[in-house]
Amino acid sequence: MFRIAKTFSRGARLFSSSSIARTTSLHHLTPEETMFKEAVAKFAKDVISPRVREMDEKEMLDKTVLQGLFDNGLMGLEVPSQYGGSEASFMSAILVIEQLAKVDPAVATLCDVHNTVVNTVVRMYGTEAQKEKYLAPLATEKVGSFCLSEAGAGSDAFALQTRATKSGNKWILNGTKMWISNSYEADIFLVFATVDPSLGYKGITCFIVEKDWGVQVAKKEQKLGIRSSSTCVLSFDNVEVPEENVLGEIGKGYKYAIGILNEGRIGIGALMTGLAQGAVDSAIPYTFQRKQFGQFIGDFQGMQFQFAQVQTEIEAARLMTYNAARLKEEGKPFVMEAAMCKLYAAQVAKKAAALAIEWTGGVGFTRDLILEKYYRDVMVGQIYEGTSNVQLQTIAKMLKPKYA
Ligand SMILES: Cc1cc2nc3c(=O)[nH]c(=O)nc-3n(C[C@H](O)[C@H](O)[C@H](O)COP(=O)(O)OP(=O)(O)OC[C@H]3O[C@@H](n4cnc5c(N)ncnc54)[C@H](O)[C@@H]3O)c2cc1C
Repeated sequence: MFRIAKTFSRGARLFSSSSIARTTSLHHLTPEETMFKEAVAKFAKDVISPRVREMDEKEMLDKTVLQGLFDNGLMGLEVPSQYGGSEASFMSAILVIEQLAKVDPAVATLCDVHNTVVNTVVRMYGTEAQKEKYLAPLATEKVGSFCLSEAGAGSDAFALQTRATKSGNKWILNGTKMWISNSYEADIFLVFATVDPSLGYKGITCFIVEKDWGVQVAKKEQKLGIRSSSTCVLSFDNVEVPEENVLGEIGKGYKYAIGILNEGRIGIGALMTGLAQGAVDSAIPYTFQRKQFGQFIGDFQGMQFQFAQVQTEIEAARLMTYNAARLKEEGKPFVMEAAMCKLYAAQVAKKAAALAIEWTGGVGFTRDLILEKYYRDVMVGQIYEGTSNVQLQTIAKMLKPKYA
Protein backbone atom coordinates (compact mmCIF):
# COMPACT_ATOMS: atom_id res chain seq x y z
CA MET A 1 0.00 0.00 0.00
CA PHE A 2 1.37 3.41 -0.89
CA ARG A 3 1.25 6.13 1.69
CA ILE A 4 -0.18 9.13 -0.06
CA ALA A 5 0.31 11.86 2.45
CA LYS A 6 3.83 11.25 3.67
CA THR A 7 5.51 11.12 0.27
CA PHE A 8 5.33 14.87 0.01
CA SER A 9 5.99 16.67 3.18
CA ARG A 10 8.45 19.44 3.73
CA GLY A 11 9.40 20.10 0.11
CA ALA A 12 5.84 20.58 -0.86
CA ARG A 13 5.30 23.20 1.84
CA LEU A 14 7.52 25.54 -0.19
CA PHE A 15 4.76 25.55 -2.76
CA SER A 16 1.84 26.02 -0.40
CA SER A 17 -1.16 27.51 -2.17
CA SER A 18 -0.96 30.77 -0.27
CA SER A 19 2.63 31.39 -1.44
CA ILE A 20 1.71 31.16 -5.11
CA ALA A 21 0.65 34.36 -6.80
CA ARG A 22 -2.77 33.43 -8.12
CA THR A 23 -2.53 34.81 -11.61
CA THR A 24 -3.02 31.30 -12.89
CA SER A 25 -6.09 29.29 -13.86
CA LEU A 26 -8.26 27.69 -11.20
CA HIS A 27 -6.91 24.37 -12.45
CA HIS A 28 -3.41 25.34 -11.38
CA LEU A 29 -2.49 23.04 -8.52
CA THR A 30 0.57 22.92 -6.33
CA PRO A 31 2.77 19.80 -6.59
CA GLU A 32 1.28 18.63 -3.29
CA GLU A 33 -2.28 19.07 -4.57
CA THR A 34 -1.50 17.29 -7.83
CA MET A 35 0.04 14.45 -5.87
CA PHE A 36 -3.05 14.10 -3.66
CA LYS A 37 -5.40 14.23 -6.62
CA GLU A 38 -3.56 11.54 -8.57
CA ALA A 39 -2.81 9.26 -5.64
CA VAL A 40 -6.39 9.37 -4.34
CA ALA A 41 -7.76 8.65 -7.81
CA LYS A 42 -5.55 5.53 -7.85
CA PHE A 43 -6.62 4.52 -4.33
CA ALA A 44 -10.28 4.95 -5.30
CA LYS A 45 -9.83 2.87 -8.44
CA ASP A 46 -7.78 0.08 -6.85
CA VAL A 47 -9.28 -0.20 -3.37
CA ILE A 48 -12.76 1.37 -3.34
CA SER A 49 -14.10 0.64 -6.82
CA PRO A 50 -14.13 -3.19 -6.48
CA ARG A 51 -16.10 -2.88 -3.24
CA VAL A 52 -18.66 -0.20 -4.14
CA ARG A 53 -21.56 -2.44 -5.11
CA GLU A 54 -21.17 -4.79 -2.16
CA MET A 55 -20.86 -1.94 0.34
CA ASP A 56 -24.01 -0.34 -1.07
CA GLU A 57 -25.97 -3.58 -0.92
CA LYS A 58 -24.80 -4.44 2.59
CA GLU A 59 -25.30 -0.80 3.64
CA MET A 60 -21.96 -1.10 5.40
CA LEU A 61 -18.53 0.42 4.97
CA ASP A 62 -15.82 -2.15 4.15
CA LYS A 63 -13.12 -2.23 6.84
CA THR A 64 -10.37 -2.39 4.20
CA VAL A 65 -11.59 0.88 2.74
CA LEU A 66 -11.68 2.61 6.12
CA GLN A 67 -8.24 1.29 7.03
CA GLY A 68 -6.95 2.40 3.63
CA LEU A 69 -8.23 5.92 4.23
CA PHE A 70 -6.32 6.04 7.53
CA ASP A 71 -3.20 4.32 6.16
CA ASN A 72 -2.97 6.83 3.34
CA GLY A 73 -3.29 9.87 5.56
CA LEU A 74 -6.73 10.72 4.15
CA MET A 75 -8.41 10.97 7.55
CA GLY A 76 -6.08 13.68 8.82
CA LEU A 77 -5.73 15.78 5.70
CA GLU A 78 -5.34 19.23 7.22
CA VAL A 79 -4.17 17.99 10.61
CA PRO A 80 -0.65 19.17 11.49
CA SER A 81 2.05 16.52 11.26
CA GLN A 82 2.78 16.84 15.00
CA TYR A 83 -0.56 15.07 15.56
CA GLY A 84 0.11 12.47 12.89
CA GLY A 85 -1.79 14.31 10.16
CA SER A 86 -0.94 15.00 6.53
CA GLU A 87 -0.73 18.77 7.01
CA ALA A 88 -2.26 19.29 3.57
CA SER A 89 -3.97 22.39 2.24
CA PHE A 90 -7.75 22.87 2.23
CA MET A 91 -7.63 22.60 -1.56
CA SER A 92 -6.00 19.17 -1.23
CA ALA A 93 -8.92 18.07 0.95
CA ILE A 94 -11.34 19.36 -1.69
CA LEU A 95 -9.54 17.44 -4.42
CA VAL A 96 -9.51 14.27 -2.32
CA ILE A 97 -13.28 14.50 -1.75
CA GLU A 98 -13.93 15.13 -5.44
CA GLN A 99 -11.82 12.13 -6.48
CA LEU A 100 -13.42 9.81 -3.92
CA ALA A 101 -16.92 10.90 -4.93
CA LYS A 102 -16.25 10.04 -8.56
CA VAL A 103 -16.03 6.42 -7.46
CA ASP A 104 -18.18 6.33 -4.33
CA PRO A 105 -20.04 9.34 -2.91
CA ALA A 106 -20.67 7.35 0.30
CA VAL A 107 -16.96 6.97 1.06
CA ALA A 108 -16.47 10.60 0.07
CA THR A 109 -19.14 11.59 2.62
CA LEU A 110 -17.32 9.78 5.42
CA CYS A 111 -14.01 11.40 4.48
CA ASP A 112 -15.59 14.83 3.98
CA VAL A 113 -17.43 14.98 7.31
CA HIS A 114 -14.46 13.57 9.21
CA ASN A 115 -11.94 16.00 7.71
CA THR A 116 -13.64 19.23 6.78
CA VAL A 117 -16.04 19.26 9.71
CA VAL A 118 -14.93 17.20 12.72
CA ASN A 119 -11.14 17.54 12.47
CA THR A 120 -11.35 21.20 11.55
CA VAL A 121 -13.47 22.13 14.58
CA VAL A 122 -11.03 20.38 16.94
CA ARG A 123 -8.06 21.91 15.12
CA MET A 124 -9.50 25.42 15.26
CA TYR A 125 -11.06 25.54 18.71
CA GLY A 126 -9.41 22.75 20.71
CA THR A 127 -6.94 23.35 23.52
CA GLU A 128 -3.47 21.87 23.16
CA ALA A 129 -4.48 19.04 25.50
CA GLN A 130 -7.64 18.33 23.46
CA LYS A 131 -5.64 18.27 20.24
CA GLU A 132 -3.11 15.85 21.74
CA LYS A 133 -5.87 13.64 23.04
CA TYR A 134 -8.32 13.72 20.12
CA LEU A 135 -6.78 15.13 16.94
CA ALA A 136 -4.02 12.52 16.89
CA PRO A 137 -6.41 9.52 17.00
CA LEU A 138 -8.80 11.24 14.59
CA ALA A 139 -5.96 11.53 12.09
CA THR A 140 -4.75 7.99 12.49
CA GLU A 141 -7.32 5.50 13.77
CA LYS A 142 -10.65 6.85 15.09
CA VAL A 143 -13.65 8.08 13.17
CA GLY A 144 -15.38 11.29 14.24
CA SER A 145 -18.99 12.49 14.05
CA PHE A 146 -20.53 15.95 14.12
CA CYS A 147 -23.79 15.88 16.10
CA LEU A 148 -25.91 18.98 15.55
CA SER A 149 -29.25 17.97 13.97
CA GLU A 150 -32.21 16.72 15.94
CA ALA A 151 -35.77 15.65 15.11
CA GLY A 152 -37.02 19.20 15.60
CA ALA A 153 -33.84 20.97 14.57
CA GLY A 154 -32.82 20.45 10.94
CA SER A 155 -32.65 23.62 8.86
CA ASP A 156 -33.43 25.44 12.10
CA ALA A 157 -30.43 23.76 13.74
CA PHE A 158 -30.26 26.07 16.73
CA ALA A 159 -33.69 24.95 17.91
CA LEU A 160 -31.86 21.96 19.36
CA GLN A 161 -33.08 20.51 22.66
CA THR A 162 -30.16 18.36 23.81
CA ARG A 163 -29.38 19.56 27.29
CA ALA A 164 -26.06 19.87 29.13
CA THR A 165 -26.36 20.26 32.91
CA LYS A 166 -23.41 21.03 35.15
CA SER A 167 -22.80 18.66 38.04
CA GLY A 168 -19.57 19.27 39.96
CA ASN A 169 -16.70 19.16 37.48
CA LYS A 170 -18.79 17.31 34.88
CA TRP A 171 -21.48 18.07 32.34
CA ILE A 172 -24.38 15.66 32.01
CA LEU A 173 -25.77 15.31 28.48
CA ASN A 174 -29.34 14.27 27.72
CA GLY A 175 -31.02 14.26 24.32
CA THR A 176 -31.32 12.63 20.92
CA LYS A 177 -29.47 13.49 17.71
CA MET A 178 -30.73 12.59 14.24
CA TRP A 179 -29.11 11.78 10.89
CA ILE A 180 -25.55 11.72 12.23
CA SER A 181 -23.02 10.71 9.57
CA ASN A 182 -20.21 8.28 10.45
CA SER A 183 -21.80 7.59 13.81
CA TYR A 184 -21.94 3.81 13.44
CA GLU A 185 -18.13 3.67 13.10
CA ALA A 186 -17.28 6.68 15.25
CA ASP A 187 -15.47 6.76 18.58
CA ILE A 188 -15.33 10.54 18.95
CA PHE A 189 -18.43 12.74 18.82
CA LEU A 190 -18.70 16.52 18.71
CA VAL A 191 -22.04 17.09 20.40
CA PHE A 192 -23.91 20.39 20.40
CA ALA A 193 -26.11 20.91 23.44
CA THR A 194 -27.61 23.84 25.27
CA VAL A 195 -26.44 24.72 28.77
CA ASP A 196 -29.46 27.01 29.24
CA PRO A 197 -32.45 26.96 26.87
CA SER A 198 -33.50 30.45 28.06
CA LEU A 199 -30.37 31.83 26.37
CA GLY A 200 -31.55 30.65 22.93
CA TYR A 201 -28.72 30.02 20.50
CA LYS A 202 -26.30 31.68 22.95
CA GLY A 203 -26.60 28.65 25.23
CA ILE A 204 -25.34 26.23 22.59
CA THR A 205 -22.04 24.62 23.52
CA CYS A 206 -19.88 22.00 21.84
CA PHE A 207 -18.62 18.97 23.78
CA ILE A 208 -16.12 16.30 22.80
CA VAL A 209 -17.67 13.00 23.80
CA GLU A 210 -16.12 9.53 23.71
CA LYS A 211 -18.30 6.64 22.65
CA ASP A 212 -17.44 4.62 25.76
CA TRP A 213 -19.03 7.27 27.97
CA GLY A 214 -22.46 6.02 26.92
CA VAL A 215 -23.23 7.28 23.41
CA GLN A 216 -25.91 4.92 22.10
CA VAL A 217 -26.68 4.22 18.47
CA ALA A 218 -30.48 4.05 18.77
CA LYS A 219 -31.10 3.37 15.08
CA LYS A 220 -29.07 3.00 11.91
CA GLU A 221 -31.10 4.61 9.12
CA GLN A 222 -31.88 2.70 5.93
CA LYS A 223 -31.40 5.25 3.21
CA LEU A 224 -32.14 5.92 -0.44
CA GLY A 225 -28.50 6.60 -1.25
CA ILE A 226 -24.94 6.83 0.15
CA ARG A 227 -25.99 3.65 1.93
CA SER A 228 -22.54 2.57 3.10
CA SER A 229 -22.07 5.93 4.82
CA SER A 230 -23.69 5.35 8.20
CA THR A 231 -26.41 7.77 9.33
CA CYS A 232 -27.75 7.09 12.80
CA VAL A 233 -30.01 8.33 15.55
CA LEU A 234 -27.94 8.79 18.71
CA SER A 235 -29.19 8.80 22.30
CA PHE A 236 -27.48 10.58 25.14
CA ASP A 237 -28.91 9.40 28.41
CA ASN A 238 -27.12 11.01 31.36
CA VAL A 239 -23.79 10.86 29.54
CA GLU A 240 -21.11 12.33 31.82
CA VAL A 241 -18.57 14.56 30.11
CA PRO A 242 -15.58 15.99 32.01
CA GLU A 243 -15.53 19.79 32.01
CA GLU A 244 -12.21 19.82 30.17
CA ASN A 245 -14.11 18.38 27.19
CA VAL A 246 -16.00 21.58 26.47
CA LEU A 247 -14.69 22.53 23.03
CA GLY A 248 -13.94 26.24 22.85
CA GLU A 249 -16.11 28.54 24.95
CA ILE A 250 -19.42 27.82 26.64
CA GLY A 251 -22.21 29.39 24.59
CA LYS A 252 -20.10 29.73 21.43
CA GLY A 253 -21.15 26.42 19.89
CA TYR A 254 -23.53 28.12 17.45
CA LYS A 255 -20.66 30.22 16.11
CA TYR A 256 -18.44 27.21 15.57
CA ALA A 257 -21.27 25.31 13.88
CA ILE A 258 -22.11 28.16 11.48
CA GLY A 259 -18.45 28.70 10.66
CA ILE A 260 -17.70 25.07 9.99
CA LEU A 261 -20.82 24.45 7.94
CA ASN A 262 -20.02 27.49 5.81
CA GLU A 263 -16.70 25.99 4.80
CA GLY A 264 -17.98 22.41 4.86
CA ARG A 265 -20.29 23.34 2.00
CA ILE A 266 -17.28 23.67 -0.27
CA GLY A 267 -16.60 20.01 0.50
CA ILE A 268 -20.13 19.10 -0.57
CA GLY A 269 -19.64 21.17 -3.74
CA ALA A 270 -16.56 19.03 -4.46
CA LEU A 271 -18.44 15.86 -3.60
CA MET A 272 -21.30 16.66 -5.96
CA THR A 273 -18.88 17.70 -8.71
CA GLY A 274 -17.06 14.38 -8.34
CA LEU A 275 -20.34 12.45 -8.34
CA ALA A 276 -21.47 14.22 -11.52
CA GLN A 277 -18.19 13.47 -13.26
CA GLY A 278 -18.23 9.87 -12.08
CA ALA A 279 -21.74 9.34 -13.47
CA VAL A 280 -20.87 10.88 -16.84
CA ASP A 281 -17.54 9.02 -17.06
CA SER A 282 -19.31 5.74 -16.32
CA ALA A 283 -22.05 6.30 -18.89
CA ILE A 284 -20.49 7.81 -22.01
CA PRO A 285 -18.17 4.90 -22.92
CA TYR A 286 -21.25 2.67 -23.23
CA THR A 287 -22.69 4.98 -25.88
CA PHE A 288 -19.66 4.30 -28.05
CA GLN A 289 -20.18 0.56 -27.75
CA ARG A 290 -23.92 0.42 -28.31
CA LYS A 291 -25.23 0.66 -31.88
CA GLN A 292 -28.74 1.58 -32.95
CA PHE A 293 -29.83 2.52 -36.47
CA GLY A 294 -26.45 1.21 -37.64
CA GLN A 295 -24.28 3.62 -35.67
CA PHE A 296 -22.97 4.23 -32.19
CA ILE A 297 -25.62 6.05 -30.17
CA GLY A 298 -22.90 8.39 -28.85
CA ASP A 299 -22.36 9.63 -32.41
CA PHE A 300 -25.88 11.02 -32.73
CA GLN A 301 -25.76 14.78 -32.48
CA GLY A 302 -28.76 14.66 -30.14
CA MET A 303 -26.61 12.70 -27.69
CA GLN A 304 -23.38 14.61 -28.24
CA PHE A 305 -24.98 17.96 -27.50
CA GLN A 306 -26.22 16.56 -24.20
CA PHE A 307 -22.69 15.32 -23.32
CA ALA A 308 -21.31 18.75 -24.17
CA GLN A 309 -23.96 20.63 -22.20
CA VAL A 310 -23.63 18.60 -19.02
CA GLN A 311 -19.81 18.58 -19.13
CA THR A 312 -19.91 22.37 -19.44
CA GLU A 313 -22.10 22.56 -16.35
CA ILE A 314 -19.86 20.16 -14.41
CA GLU A 315 -16.87 22.32 -15.28
CA ALA A 316 -18.73 25.40 -14.03
CA ALA A 317 -19.54 23.61 -10.74
CA ARG A 318 -15.91 22.54 -10.41
CA LEU A 319 -14.60 26.05 -10.98
CA MET A 320 -17.10 27.52 -8.51
CA THR A 321 -15.95 24.95 -5.95
CA TYR A 322 -12.23 25.53 -6.54
CA ASN A 323 -12.79 29.29 -6.43
CA ALA A 324 -14.60 29.07 -3.08
CA ALA A 325 -11.76 26.88 -1.76
CA ARG A 326 -9.08 29.33 -2.91
CA LEU A 327 -10.99 32.27 -1.42
CA LYS A 328 -11.10 30.45 1.90
CA GLU A 329 -7.38 29.65 1.74
CA GLU A 330 -6.60 33.27 0.93
CA GLY A 331 -8.54 34.43 3.99
CA LYS A 332 -11.06 36.30 1.82
CA PRO A 333 -14.86 36.26 2.26
CA PHE A 334 -16.18 33.01 0.83
CA VAL A 335 -19.56 32.32 2.46
CA MET A 336 -21.68 33.31 -0.55
CA GLU A 337 -19.41 31.47 -2.98
CA ALA A 338 -19.49 28.37 -0.76
CA ALA A 339 -23.30 28.41 -0.70
CA MET A 340 -23.40 28.95 -4.46
CA CYS A 341 -21.02 26.10 -5.24
CA LYS A 342 -22.93 23.68 -3.01
CA LEU A 343 -26.28 24.72 -4.48
CA TYR A 344 -25.13 24.60 -8.08
CA ALA A 345 -23.01 21.45 -7.87
CA ALA A 346 -25.96 19.58 -6.30
CA GLN A 347 -28.22 20.74 -9.16
CA VAL A 348 -25.71 19.80 -11.85
CA ALA A 349 -25.02 16.42 -10.24
CA LYS A 350 -28.74 15.65 -10.15
CA LYS A 351 -28.99 16.44 -13.85
CA ALA A 352 -25.83 14.47 -14.72
CA ALA A 353 -26.91 11.39 -12.73
CA ALA A 354 -30.33 11.41 -14.41
CA LEU A 355 -28.90 11.88 -17.92
CA ALA A 356 -26.36 9.11 -17.36
CA ILE A 357 -29.24 6.69 -16.91
CA GLU A 358 -31.12 8.10 -19.91
CA TRP A 359 -28.04 7.75 -22.15
CA THR A 360 -27.62 4.09 -21.27
CA GLY A 361 -31.28 3.19 -21.70
CA GLY A 362 -32.62 -0.03 -20.22
CA VAL A 363 -29.25 -1.31 -19.06
CA GLY A 364 -28.62 1.91 -17.12
CA PHE A 365 -31.86 1.35 -15.29
CA THR A 366 -30.65 -2.01 -13.97
CA ARG A 367 -28.09 -2.82 -11.34
CA ASP A 368 -25.79 -4.24 -14.02
CA LEU A 369 -24.34 -0.73 -14.19
CA ILE A 370 -23.48 1.52 -11.28
CA LEU A 371 -25.45 4.46 -12.65
CA GLU A 372 -28.58 3.81 -10.62
CA LYS A 373 -26.42 4.21 -7.50
CA TYR A 374 -25.22 7.67 -8.52
CA TYR A 375 -28.88 8.55 -9.15
CA ARG A 376 -29.81 7.49 -5.61
CA ASP A 377 -26.71 8.98 -4.00
CA VAL A 378 -27.14 12.37 -5.61
CA MET A 379 -30.33 13.30 -3.76
CA VAL A 380 -28.54 13.91 -0.48
CA GLY A 381 -26.63 16.81 -2.03
CA GLN A 382 -29.74 18.93 -1.70
CA ILE A 383 -30.23 18.03 1.94
CA TYR A 384 -27.15 17.68 4.13
CA GLU A 385 -24.98 20.58 5.36
CA GLY A 386 -27.90 22.89 4.57
CA THR A 387 -30.70 22.22 2.08
CA SER A 388 -30.75 23.92 -1.30
CA ASN A 389 -33.33 26.38 0.03
CA VAL A 390 -31.03 27.21 2.93
CA GLN A 391 -28.22 27.92 0.44
CA LEU A 392 -30.57 30.19 -1.53
CA GLN A 393 -31.48 31.93 1.71
CA THR A 394 -27.79 32.57 2.48
CA ILE A 395 -27.06 33.84 -1.02
CA ALA A 396 -30.15 36.08 -1.02
CA LYS A 397 -29.27 37.49 2.41
CA MET A 398 -25.80 38.42 1.16
CA LEU A 399 -27.12 39.90 -2.07
CA LYS A 400 -29.73 42.15 -0.48
CA PRO A 401 -27.39 44.81 0.99
CA LYS A 402 -26.06 45.44 -2.51
CA TYR A 403 -29.50 46.52 -3.65
CA ALA A 404 -31.58 47.57 -0.67
C1 LIG B 1 -27.54 11.40 4.84
C2 LIG B 1 -27.56 12.53 5.81
C3 LIG B 1 -26.46 12.79 6.59
C4 LIG B 1 -26.51 13.81 7.54
N1 LIG B 1 -25.42 14.01 8.35
C5 LIG B 1 -25.51 14.88 9.38
C6 LIG B 1 -24.46 14.99 10.33
O1 LIG B 1 -23.42 14.32 10.22
N2 LIG B 1 -24.63 15.83 11.38
C7 LIG B 1 -25.74 16.58 11.53
O2 LIG B 1 -25.82 17.32 12.51
N3 LIG B 1 -26.77 16.52 10.63
C8 LIG B 1 -26.67 15.68 9.58
N4 LIG B 1 -27.70 15.57 8.67
C9 LIG B 1 -28.90 16.38 8.86
C10 LIG B 1 -29.05 17.46 7.79
O3 LIG B 1 -28.14 18.49 8.01
C11 LIG B 1 -30.51 17.90 7.82
O4 LIG B 1 -31.27 16.84 7.30
C12 LIG B 1 -30.72 19.16 6.98
O5 LIG B 1 -30.15 20.27 7.61
C13 LIG B 1 -32.20 19.43 6.73
O6 LIG B 1 -32.94 19.35 7.89
P1 LIG B 1 -34.31 18.48 7.91
O7 LIG B 1 -33.96 17.14 7.39
O8 LIG B 1 -34.88 18.61 9.26
O9 LIG B 1 -35.23 19.17 6.85
P2 LIG B 1 -36.17 20.45 7.11
O10 LIG B 1 -35.39 21.54 7.75
O11 LIG B 1 -37.42 20.01 7.75
O12 LIG B 1 -36.46 20.88 5.60
C14 LIG B 1 -37.46 20.22 4.79
C15 LIG B 1 -37.71 21.12 3.60
O13 LIG B 1 -38.15 22.41 4.04
C16 LIG B 1 -37.32 23.41 3.47
N5 LIG B 1 -37.16 24.53 4.40
C17 LIG B 1 -36.88 24.50 5.73
N6 LIG B 1 -36.76 25.73 6.22
C18 LIG B 1 -36.96 26.58 5.18
C19 LIG B 1 -36.97 27.99 5.04
N7 LIG B 1 -36.72 28.81 6.07
N8 LIG B 1 -37.21 28.52 3.80
C20 LIG B 1 -37.46 27.72 2.74
N9 LIG B 1 -37.46 26.38 2.82
C21 LIG B 1 -37.22 25.82 4.02
C22 LIG B 1 -35.99 22.73 3.20
O14 LIG B 1 -35.23 23.42 2.23
C23 LIG B 1 -36.45 21.36 2.76
O15 LIG B 1 -36.75 21.39 1.40
C24 LIG B 1 -27.66 14.59 7.68
C25 LIG B 1 -28.77 14.34 6.86
C26 LIG B 1 -28.73 13.32 5.95
C27 LIG B 1 -29.95 13.06 5.11
